[in-house]
Amino acid sequence: MKFTILIQSGDDMTTPMVIGQIERTGPLQAATLGLTLAESKRLLAELQRELVTAQLRYHAEAQRHCTQCGTRRTLKDYRPVRFKSLFGGVKVRVLRLYGCQCKGQYTRAHTFQIDGLVNWVSPELVYTQGQLAATIPYARTAELLELVLPVDAGNAPSTVRRNALTVGQRLDAELHQPTGADQAESPKVNTDPVTIVGLDSGYVHDCRPRSERAFEIVVGRILSENKGSRSLGFVRAVERNRAARHRLKQRLREQGQPTEHVTVLTDGDAGLRCLQMSALPNATHILDWYHLTRRLTVLKRVLCGKEAINQFPTAYHNPLCKTLTSMKWRLWHGRTGGAINRIRAFLFTLRLPTIAGKRAAVRLRRLTKELLRYLKNNVDSLTNYGRRYRNGQRISTAFMESAVNQLIDKRMSKSQQMRWSPWGAHLLLQVRAELVDGRLGATFARWYPGFTGQDQIAQVAA
Ligand SMILES: [Zn+2]
Repeated sequence: MKFTILIQSGDDMTTPMVIGQIERTGPLQAATLGLTLAESKRLLAELQRELVTAQLRYHAEAQRHCTQCGTRRTLKDYRPVRFKSLFGGVKVRVLRLYGCQCKGQYTRAHTFQIDGLVNWVSPELVYTQGQLAATIPYARTAELLELVLPVDAGNAPSTVRRNALTVGQRLDAELHQPTGADQAESPKVNTDPVTIVGLDSGYVHDCRPRSERAFEIVVGRILSENKGSRSLGFVRAVERNRAARHRLKQRLREQGQPTEHVTVLTDGDAGLRCLQMSALPNATHILDWYHLTRRLTVLKRVLCGKEAINQFPTAYHNPLCKTLTSMKWRLWHGRTGGAINRIRAFLFTLRLPTIAGKRAAVRLRRLTKELLRYLKNNVDSLTNYGRRYRNGQRISTAFMESAVNQLIDKRMSKSQQMRWSPWGAHLLLQVRAELVDGRLGATFARWYPGFTGQDQIAQVAA
């Protein structure tokens, strides 16, 4: 069997054009039933070439005439360009026309222009590369696209990186320097009241030689009353105090108006507290239960470990366990003073001559002192967690752990042995935040009228 695929323009009913042939000879086999990937790629590339050429020919002809007087403009020459898209690169020659005499004495030649098209790269190619690159490594993005689509030009890993970071740069610039046009087009301000803001941070490996081994990334999530959420992320070394405050305020504005009773949950980090104090000075700050209880869990693990059981006589071990339990109970019920007294009693027992010299006691003392310092530093941010929990209010930044996981760990995690430049990580983080929030497609639609891409990868991978 032999199939010929033809295309024909519906406007002028020209002779149909052959864009490909599919041949099936021999017996029907599993591998030859239907279209193969190679055939589909060849057909798509050919279809794209014909479509782009015809569209450019049609619109170039329309630009030949002056919009004011209708005179046919003089042709200077043709300029070869390569349009890069998901369906392959298309080599075309575009017109360079002199301006019309009616507009003035001197008339410079202008290359045929298409609104919004930068460097002849299709927005959909940039969008798809950006979307994938925010999810998987740049090289994998290039490989994956090459596997399923006839994309060739503009798909080297370095180009994928450049395109993805360009998107991040545009998002960043839009946030920090909104121009008149961007402001008019910027997303509508939500009036949904914001109730919870979570801030946390994580570290990724630095790729620069002779630099510190890791740098810090701050991520945040803003929840409003009607369940919507907005993510934000930035590299601390790239975005300092004022810029970070501006970012948080802008994201709050997009997500909704902060109410009187907005609660900010953090792990008590001084930098995050400063950010909260500058952007939301009237908010209630709460030390999140997850980070607090993690320290108690570490203490418990050491105390109930083999080493401590072997080294501590039962007469000491049992009271220590009881004190630890009561410490946790008091913290849960917001009895901070009582909890701190229990910690002091715990330290006192660990200093008793019978056990003070044991290795387990030394470890426990160090951990307990750290816990005491942590609680003292955040004493004004402790609350009655039990009551909040019973009232159905948030006590832990579990939603923040998922934000850290989604924004940092899945793409930039240390376990993947990836190294980043602070600027590269910062820009990619902007794309990732938009993708996680399911807003990247809408942003592209705002940048490129007529764009119809959907954030599908976000739902699968983010
Ligand atoms: Zn004219």
